Amino acid sequence: MNTPHPPEALPVPPELGDALEGFETVAVITHVAPDGDAIGSTLGLVHLLREQGKQAIPICQDPVPYQVNWLPHVDEFQRTIPPDVDAIISIDLSDIDRMGSPYDPEQFGHLPLINIDHHATNTLFGTVNWVEPRAVAACEMVYHLARAQNWPLTPRVATYILTGLLTDTRGLRTANVNARVMHVATHLVELGAPIGEITELTFNRKPLSLIKLWALALPHLHIEKEGIIWTIITEAMREEAGHREENDGGLVSFITAAEGMLVGIVFTEKPDGRVNVSFRSRPGVDVSRVAFALGGGGHPQASGATLNGSLDDVIPRVLAQVKEMLQHAGEA
Ligand code: 5GP
Ligand code: MN
Repeated sequence: MNTPHPPEALPVPPELGDALEGFETVAVITHVAPDGDAIGSTLGLVHLLREQGKQAIPICQDPVPYQVNWLPHVDEFQRTIPPDVDAIISIDLSDIDRMGSPYDPEQFGHLPLINIDHHATNTLFGTVNWVEPRAVAACEMVYHLARAQNWPLTPRVATYILTGLLTDTRGLRTANVNARVMHVATHLVELGAPIGEITELTFNRKPLSLIKLWALALPHLHIEKEGIIWTIITEAMREEAGHREENDGGLVSFITAAEGMLVGIVFTEKPDGRVNVSFRSRPGVDVSRVAFALGGGGHPQASGATLNGSLDDVIPRVLAQVKEMLQHAGEA
């Protein structure tokens, strides 16, 4: 871990290290509809724990998304938690429901639950909670944990961690990127993470079906005079485009870049009949509180919620709340 200018460390609570010492077999679970940070932080932590002699199993309700399906060992993800684990670590998720079907409180509620997350909206549901909103990615927390514990970082683990760091910052392009984050990224490259290859595979490659889906979604673009830009993704569009993956592949960030817009929203119909609402905003406009009020969560500039009801029910309700938030922000 020698580096000429070691990155500034984010503090790791001592009880976390103690808790990690205390078990042999652990399930590491991340959120439904995972993104690059979810997958990278889970695999990074799983491989670090295995290198310390633990048995660690990566768990996720949903498949690994196309964006990071090139990472090694993505096929190790399981959809159910083995019954004999000593503890559960949740990573990159802000409330207990985001674990989805694998976490049955009846079956696993008695086990230690270690909550590692970087969302300010985290509900502190664990028996040990390490919530660090300064971290730009859960992957950055895994990096600081490894350093605090003096665990060596192999090139493979550095690759997992850098991949999630890059996806949650959209390639180091979000407003929360600072010198510490650049130092961490540099250190991961020094440790053997191939940044050029990661960037190429993660950002410069999309399924054709996703581009077709964007082409179907963009004609439904709406602009509200309050500075809100939004569109929809329906089940019928996904069917027509032949795109089964639930995430929008970056569409919400793309539309939010439109000049003069404060908030961007994509409303996506889910196969279970609910609607996922994905928010982005300009620095200075906090969409995480609206998402939290709707039962979801996230970050000031990127958040979301999943609501019951049809698009026709959900859209006016959400737009009214966002407009109210913008009005208050304007008065503040
Ligand atoms: P995305 O818009 O990329 O799906 O998600 C952006 C952020 O919002 C992520 O940090 C994600 O964890 C959070 N988020 C998205 N959907 C939900 C949701 O349904 N519930 C919660 N709690 N957070 C969400
Ligand atoms: Mn994250």
